[in-house]
Order: sequence, then structure tokens, then C-alpha cells
Amino acid sequence: MPENTINTSKDLFYMTFKQFLLDKRISAAIQDSGYITPTPIQSRSIPKILKGHDVMGLAQTGTGKTAAFTIPILQQLLTSNKRHLCALILVPTRELAEQIHLTNIKLGKGTDLRSIAIYGGVSKNRQIAKLRKGINVAIACPGRLLDLHGDEHIDLSHIKILVLDEADRMCDMGFMPDIRRIIKLLPNQRQTLFFAATMPDDIKHLANKILKEPVRIQIGKISPTKSVAQVLYPVPQGLKKSLLFAILKQTSTGRALIFTRTKYKARNLARDLTKRGYRAVALQGDMSQNKRQRAIDGFRRTKYDILVATDVASRGIDVVDISHVINYDIPDSSETYTHRIGRTGRASKTGEAFTFASLEDTRLLREIEKDLGSPIKRKTLQDFNYGNFIPENQFQTKYSKQKRSARPRRHRQKRKLRNKAKKVHNKQ
Ligand code: AMP
Repeated sequence: MPENTINTSKDLFYMTFKQFLLDKRISAAIQDSGYITPTPIQSRSIPKILKGHDVMGLAQTGTGKTAAFTIPILQQLLTSNKRHLCALILVPTRELAEQIHLTNIKLGKGTDLRSIAIYGGVSKNRQIAKLRKGINVAIACPGRLLDLHGDEHIDLSHIKILVLDEADRMCDMGFMPDIRRIIKLLPNQRQTLFFAATMPDDIKHLANKILKEPVRIQIGKISPTKSVAQVLYPVPQGLKKSLLFAILKQTSTGRALIFTRTKYKARNLARDLTKRGYRAVALQGDMSQNKRQRAIDGFRRTKYDILVATDVASRGIDVVDISHVINYDIPDSSETYTHRIGRTGRASKTGEAFTFASLEDTRLLREIEKDLGSPIKRKTLQDFNYGNFIPENQFQTKYSKQKRSARPRRHRQKRKLRNKAKKVHNKQ
């Protein structure tokens, strides 16, 4: 597969939105959204998408990737003057569907283009009624889309642009068979845009199969952004809650997102935080879609300062100014770690990510640090009663390695020479 490869981390350059020669209504909406300059992925993708190229984008959320495909899609629909359902964006979660739908509304305001978010867990009737009114862009989770198509409520025969967003996540969540079925329902003659944060073999394979001579765009390294300061707090399981309360008391947090491993913990922790006077809310899979949306909206509109979420529930939350991500429970993989902490430090802001780790988490912590390529900075909270637990003694191996490598080279060389001399001396 011939690929036109662009690595933006090396040759970043700055463009303005004006250079894309966009429809006046889209330019005005961009301005109203407060976007002044395109982000790197937008600078790279928008001109290529406008020219009709397929794109394979390796980028995480927080890079401005949604607008990178939404802007050129809206532009193309306006210029082609087609009034069918022409663009399909496949996503792994309902939250992401809603978020992209909102971006479409925001950037398409002033135009007569209409979009819809399609996902399960809610009644079909509203979605069907909306589809009947005429839609140009559908942002859909695969299962419900197939359902609606099976019942002939949606016509996919005019699709000109297909986007797979967070393709790696969709694969993780078992959507690949559904995606293959959907692709078979679409016209062959179309433009395909493929976005993922990681590129494991099965994803590469799928991309190679469905993309035609794609422009490959990679934004930065696939590792947590530099704008996030990462800290690890060793703590025994039983003291996690008190440590959290102590940290929140000492730290000036703006909006904080706390991750727990289970729905039960998310619920309890949000309740305990509320009891202590924090404006906190839980976001977990057992909640109805309405309740979830209310929690997300409340967090976005600063009715709540703290959102306590599980991983699945939190996917796709689009709140730019999250100051702190707190991993109350350690994530189950380095990929989840990257996704979680990528929720802060977004759109040129800086953020802090705190991770609590107890001894049971040693294996996971090692794996995460191995993938990150360096240890996370350890921290002990001053004046916190750790009981018999000595945080400085935990996770020593990595820590001492970190200290060692931080030592100036000449010290190590001196020590090597001393040891060599000792050996020679002992031999004698
Ligand atoms: P995304 O990676 O699409 O989730 O976008 C991350 C955040 O960046 C969203 O809140 C967008 O509204 C915001 N954003 C997107 N493009 C720009 C831009 N050109 N300038 C400033 N903020 C942006």
C-alpha cells in the first residue's frame, strides 16, 4: 500500500483557518468556537481531506482531531450541495457520539446541514423520527446503526465519507465484525478517514484493507502529552480514601476527574465526597443514559467540580479544562493510563495526573512504566498519617533505577573505576 507519510512532530508549521478557504458560515462558527489557529492535526488533515484523500491519523483525543475531520466534512457537504445522508462517523461509545454530534452542531450552525447521534440504550423512536426528517451526517455506534439499517430506517447508499474514530477502541470493545458488516453496506466509491491512538496489528490490517493510498498523519508520540505532570502516590489500599481527601484539601484543583475500577466504588466515592462538601457526581455504566448525560453536562457546566468515573463510562468526555486526573485505582493497562491522563492537559492547557498505587498494583505499575519508558515520579504526602506504611520504601527497584540513571555520568564512571581498582586489588 503506497503511503504518503507525514510526521508532524518533526515539521510542525503554523497555518490559519483562512488558508483552507472555507465557506463563510463555517469560518464564522470556527471563530465563535474560539479556535484561533488550527491544531497540528487540523493543519495536516484539513487540506488533505478537502482534496479527497483517504487519511490514516494516529492521534489521541485532546489533539483537536474531531474538528480535524468535522470541518472538511461540513465543507465538502456544503460545496457538493447533496442533501442525502452523505457522511458516516463510526465511534465506540455513546458519549463520543454525542460529543462529535455537538461539534457538528457547533461548527455547522448557520448551515442547513443536520447531524444525528445514533447509539443503543435509549429508545429508537426519537432517532427514527429524526432520520425521517433528513440527515446529512450520522455519528453512530455500530450495533444500533445495524439495527436501524436492518429495519430499513436508515439509507447508507449515498455515503461519500466514512470516518472510523477511535478505531483501536472499537476493536478492543469487540466491534470489528459489526464494522466489517457496515463497510459492506457502503458504496465502494467513497473517502475513508481512519483515526486511532494506537496501531496494533489487527488495526493496521483493517486500515490497509479499507484505505486507498492514504495520507498518513501522526501527531506526536503515542505517549502521554508533555503538558501533563505525572505523580505516583504509594499508599495502602485501606488509606486511599483518606489520602484522597488529604490531597484534595492541600491541592488547588479546578475540575478533577477521578477514576475507579468499579461502578460501586465510583458511586460510593462520589457520595462520600459530596458528604464532605465537594460538588461531586458519579458517572458509571449502571446509570440511565439521561442520568449520565446530566452528570456530564453538570461537570461541563461547572455544576460539579469532581466527576468520579469508571473507564467505560468516561470515554469521550469532552471537557477541556480538567486540571487533575486522579487514578484512585490504577488503570489495567498502559493504554488505559494514557487515555485517562489524556483527559487533562488538553488543547494547550497543563494538567496534573495523580496515580495511587498499593502493593497489589506492583505488576500493573511495572507494565505501565515499562511502556511509558520511564518511571512515574514518586511522591509522599507530607503530614499524612501513613501508619506503619513507609511510602518511600515501595516500588524500590524502579525508583532506585530512576535515581541511578539521574546521576551524572562522570560519577558512575568514577565509581566503575574505583570498583575496577578494588577488584584488581582483591585479586592481588
Ligand atoms: P478533540 O481532540 O477533538 O477531543 O478536541 C479537544 C478539545 O480541543 C476540544 O474541546 C475542542 O473544542 C478543542 N479544540 C479543537 N480544535 C481547536 C483549536 N483549533 N483551537 C483551540 N481548541 C480547539
